Amino acid sequence: MIFQPYYECMDPEQRAELQVRRLRETVARMEANVPWYAEKLKEKGITAADIVSLDDLRHLPFTIKQDLRDNYPFGLFAVPPHECVRIHASSGTTGKPVIGGYTREDIAIWSDTMARTICCGGGTSEDVLQNAYGYGLFTGGLGAHYGGERLGCMVVPISGGNTERQLMLMQDLGSTILCATPSYALTMVDEAADLGIDIRELPLKAGLFGAEPWSEGAREAVEERMGISAHDIYGLTEIIGPGVSAECEVKGGMHVFDDHFIPEIIDPETGEPMPEGERGELVFTCVTKRAMPLLRFRTRDITALHHGQCACGRTHPRMDRVTGRTDDMLIIRGVNVFPSQIEDVLTGIEGVEPHYQLVLTREGRLDNLEIQVEVSPGIFSDEVRHLEELTEKIGDRVASALAIRVDVKLVEPKSIERSVGKAKRVIDMREEA
Ligand code: ADP
Ligand code: ZN
Repeated sequence: MIFQPYYECMDPEQRAELQVRRLRETVARMEANVPWYAEKLKEKGITAADIVSLDDLRHLPFTIKQDLRDNYPFGLFAVPPHECVRIHASSGTTGKPVIGGYTREDIAIWSDTMARTICCGGGTSEDVLQNAYGYGLFTGGLGAHYGGERLGCMVVPISGGNTERQLMLMQDLGSTILCATPSYALTMVDEAADLGIDIRELPLKAGLFGAEPWSEGAREAVEERMGISAHDIYGLTEIIGPGVSAECEVKGGMHVFDDHFIPEIIDPETGEPMPEGERGELVFTCVTKRAMPLLRFRTRDITALHHGQCACGRTHPRMDRVTGRTDDMLIIRGVNVFPSQIEDVLTGIEGVEPHYQLVLTREGRLDNLEIQVEVSPGIFSDEVRHLEELTEKIGDRVASALAIRVDVKLVEPKSIERSVGKAKRVIDMREEA
């Protein structure tokens, strides 16, 4: 089912007209109500009236995370703060949190885009939606909650953690959709195995997994072990939260709900737009947000965009899986590596689990990376030669996929800390060395 077919399947030219009109209105509101943007627009010599086509987007000023911090907490609001009915904050994975504000209208839009997201994953009003995203300042919990209610699902607001209870409710209530970070979904799989619960036997049919990078291999693992269809979903606090883009049943990229959030891909070095289909930094412009619309917000997330209709009928552009943000990128002896690329290699190897950690150390002037990965249960007690072969195989696969030599350490099943929210994959010991 498509939640809002009028917007989701709109003729792209017609949508472009809508986007331009909305963009012009948003810029006009910023000129009037957000002194910081009014100044920036003036510097660029552009006014709302100048915006006549989507090509004019590129004349607008960028916004970066530091701008939100400099204007903390309400400096970029386009409404008086008391008109907001909700505040969220980013989880602060990469520094001081930033605030997002929402008017009642913003919450309604967000609920719609999250309802679209759930429908992308095959959801309907008949579903029991177990929401294991954290509730609180983090956008995941309440975002999925409002979307589920908007669609008419029975929402189970369990939040993250307490895995045994999750599994009990999953069985008792017959949850059909699970919302969680992909790393927490894997934690659940593990614990279920310990408790002798086979999730594949339960009514669960789909997972909406996002908020952190994950690999195709992790998708296969979780689909196999849960007996579900796993969908990648994406969003960020600055733009609205989850519900910015989502994968439909075709799984050929995440549909960006661009009637609200216009995406662009730029070269992170030059700021220039990248050609269609090429990877670069994802940038969003909000054209319907009331409380805190942002112009050309640089997400630091690396992906590519594809236009054209999808077999599902939606005409929204699709973005590729986000391999990570520029800040997550490791530079190992001059080679750029994202943790998710290593995950991709690991999940393709039999005998290891998708539970891993990357330990960075410094030897002299060189950075060294050690992959610690759990072996599958049963293998650890295996003979030493077998373990050595496995270690070697992982090293070789990483070397051929990423062109770097890394150290590999096999660790016992369950020895790597399990995540309930966003997983912490990288342990950086370089300062201490
Ligand atoms: P923080 O920046 O503190 O983590 P958010 O909770 O707003 O705050 O997280 C948004 C970020 O999470 C995105 O910019 C992106 O880096 C990451 N993210 C969200 N969804 C996905 C996804 N499906 N795949 C990869 N990364 C994602
Ligand atoms: Zn589609």
